[in-house]
Amino acid sequence: MPVNISAYQSIQATLVDQGVTLIAVSKTKPKEELMELYTLGHRSFGENYVQELVDKAAALPKDIQWHFIGHLQSNKVKYIAPFVFMIHGVDSEKLLQEINKQAVKQNRIIDCLLQVHIATEETKFGFDGPALHELLMSGRIASYTNIRIRGLMGMASFSEDQALLSQEFYTLKTYFDKAQQAFPDGSFDTLSMGMSSDYALAISKGSTMVRIGSLLFGARNYPAPK
Ligand SMILES: *Cc1c(COP(=O)(O)O)cnc(C)c1O
Repeated sequence: MPVNISAYQSIQATLVDQGVTLIAVSKTKPKEELMELYTLGHRSFGENYVQELVDKAAALPKDIQWHFIGHLQSNKVKYIAPFVFMIHGVDSEKLLQEINKQAVKQNRIIDCLLQVHIATEETKFGFDGPALHELLMSGRIASYTNIRIRGLMGMASFSEDQALLSQEFYTLKTYFDKAQQAFPDGSFDTLSMGMSSDYALAISKGSTMVRIGSLLFGARNYPAPK
């Protein structure tokens, strides 16, 4: 299935108007398809699997900004630390510690989003509201010298119930607004929520960054590598 260039152009035009950043989620898709968007000027790509991301980053232009959006295991942080632009799914303090350690080794500052659990499903990762609040108010964040916490990320329920999704996005936005008070320097500015099926709703609830895959690249119909 070819890249849907007209969908890309119309989504991108709408998002630019709204000041929302588009992450093109290219997991499982071949490098040639990423290059189709790259040629049009697109630079922000999202990947879920460490090995796939490492391979693509090595082969593709160096000015691509790679967003790691999947569930990241601590023992794999070292592979992406040299180049990753932003890590979206930071869901534990153990992971924060490891990212910081690897960022120090690389002499880099790595931008991270804390993942918050907003869906009704138990399978989705993330901090719950009280744990997030505790972490941000504890002052421990300041000890992670090579991490910049840029905001929050969340995934809504796998559901078509608009009222439910709306409520979940609203909840995340509420956490975001509250958490922002812990960062008076303005660095906490990114709310990553919304995918192909729900991005317009997410933006209406305050998203600043959407992660869109299938609308651009078509359905992912083969299993992704682990
Ligand atoms: C795969 C994925 C997306 C993109 O999903 P689409 O429905 O194809 O847009 C967004 N966010 C995360 C975390 C993903 O794993």
